[in-house]
Amino acid sequence: MGLDVGVIGVGMIGQEHIRRLDGGPGGSRVVAVADADADRAAAVAGQLPDAKALPTGEELIASDAVDAVVVTSWGPTHEPYVLAAVAAGKPVFCEKPLATTEEACRRIVDAEVAAGRRLVQVGFNRRYDPAHRALKQALDGGAIGAPLLVHCAHRNASVPPHYTRDMSIADTAVHEIDELRWLLGREIAAVQVLTPRKSSRGGELQDPLLVLFEMSDGVLVDVEVSVNVHYGYEIRCEVSGETGTVELADPAPVTIRREGAVAGLVPGDWRERFALSYDVELREWAGTAAAAQPPQGPGAWDGYVAQVVSDAALRSLHSGGRVPVELPPRPDLYASPTS
Ligand code: NAP
Repeated sequence: MGLDVGVIGVGMIGQEHIRRLDGGPGGSRVVAVADADADRAAAVAGQLPDAKALPTGEELIASDAVDAVVVTSWGPTHEPYVLAAVAAGKPVFCEKPLATTEEACRRIVDAEVAAGRRLVQVGFNRRYDPAHRALKQALDGGAIGAPLLVHCAHRNASVPPHYTRDMSIADTAVHEIDELRWLLGREIAAVQVLTPRKSSRGGELQDPLLVLFEMSDGVLVDVEVSVNVHYGYEIRCEVSGETGTVELADPAPVTIRREGAVAGLVPGDWRERFALSYDVELREWAGTAAAAQPPQGPGAWDGYVAQVVSDAALRSLHSGGRVPVELPPRPDLYASPTS
């Protein structure tokens, strides 16, 4: 049987996800949308064969027509929608961040634990990117021995005017926070944010940042976060191990050699770089939701831990120094350390 989905927040990524879910594999379709901008909701619903625009996210979650919910509104609005979906017993895919404070994320974890079943998946899409999956497979297979150091870069061509200094951590580096826990199978024990010379293109932003993570087994990680690089969108990750190194390959499909130079296209933005990851992510989520199984992807606990680490990094950004990460015991509902 197919999955009838309601989508709350139909801006940029909401429309991307709708394109994948409506008429998607397994017969999923979008039957309802809601947005703070009612005209936008109506326009998006008007382009879909089976969708209605509903006045509020709450009405969408309560609707009998909706089997499962996708939350792609702005981060600070996520918590009440995810809590309402859990209370209604409906699977919910929530874009990152799960919520914007540790306390809000904890309320979601507590609600799921009280309900006694996992209903929440968080949109940490790196776990679905074929290149990141190949990197993890190489590490797990022992291709380079024990990992010792990791070097990452997260570079955006530009960011919108509403982007604030803290968003370099809470909205951007949060992807590396989840990626590192998943890739290395360890928790993050401490974080320190260093502020190099500022880019003249960054305005009020502190851009770039260098974020240093200490994993619980002593692996050290450096992440460059740059959000005004102009030349394109680039994600890098290289792991240095006891017997070799493994890194993400250049994502350009071809390399051009001409006029004495070598060139490969750099993706313009996250939509281009991670298109395949979103395809796989939503297909797998819709599959488990339709089968009434718990989500296999990153869950509420992962969203909570990411927020705890993100808050620690923000404390380091604001006050300087190394900030240890303290995690409470993981509830039994979340079987493995990173899911
Ligand atoms: P966006 O283009 O601004 O879209 C958000 C939409 O939600 C807008 O239409 C907005 O309306 C609407 N909205 C705001 N408050 C709402 C509320 N209370 N109820 C219902 N709708 C509401 O933002 P976006 O770039 O799509 O990002 C949305 C979320 O996805 C964010 O959490 C972001 O971090 C995440 N994201 C994830 C990835 C990824 O790679 N995983 C990539 C991009 C974004 P107004 O414009 O009128 O406020």
